[in-house]
Amino acid sequence: MSRDLTDSKLVLAGYLLSTGRSVVLPAADWFMRNKKAWRLQELIRQTARRIKDKSGRCSSRLVGVDEEGLILSGLTKCQGGDPNGHAQKIQVRRTWTDNANAPTEWDQVHVEVTCTCPAFQYWGPERQSVVQNYNLPPLQGDASLPSKNLKLKDGTPYTTVKLCKHLISFGKLILADNLTDLFPGFYAEILEPAAGEEI
Ligand SMILES: [Zn+2]
Repeated sequence: MSRDLTDSKLVLAGYLLSTGRSVVLPAADWFMRNKKAWRLQELIRQTARRIKDKSGRCSSRLVGVDEEGLILSGLTKCQGGDPNGHAQKIQVRRTWTDNANAPTEWDQVHVEVTCTCPAFQYWGPERQSVVQNYNLPPLQGDASLPSKNLKLKDGTPYTTVKLCKHLISFGKLILADNLTDLFPGFYAEILEPAAGEEI
């Protein structure tokens, strides 16, 4: 979609709203107007305590590092869960244009996430991640409203389930490491310019 087309649709949407006419905005326009970025720490902090507690019975491993795409892949197994575990991906958003300005601390970067577990798809995280702009494609499902658990057993609204227990477990694991250690090749060029290179 071209920028012009998007902009003209936004203008139209704004007009319809300002005139009080009821209008359902296409999803893409909603994202453009409500673009929000998330730090991994925020997503964990803003997830319901019930899910955070469940993540304490999970253990995660870092199984892949894509330095080009700035993606960390995890495998998380939980007590009583699928013995094969579920796969997570957390991508650091490349919000900078010049690598020399790349942020080096977790609290300076925004992320997109996904997990292959059913809870991510059906309990709210996938929907939340699409609506609030932190989903790492491709979708596991169709990002529709949670169909199986509109409210968790204790009444926790799905809107407070930003992450599944696997992503919380894996997220905490990688937050314990510095970005520069997780993506050593990427940061090597930035932090240690080759001898003789001008900086
Ligand atoms: Zn999960």
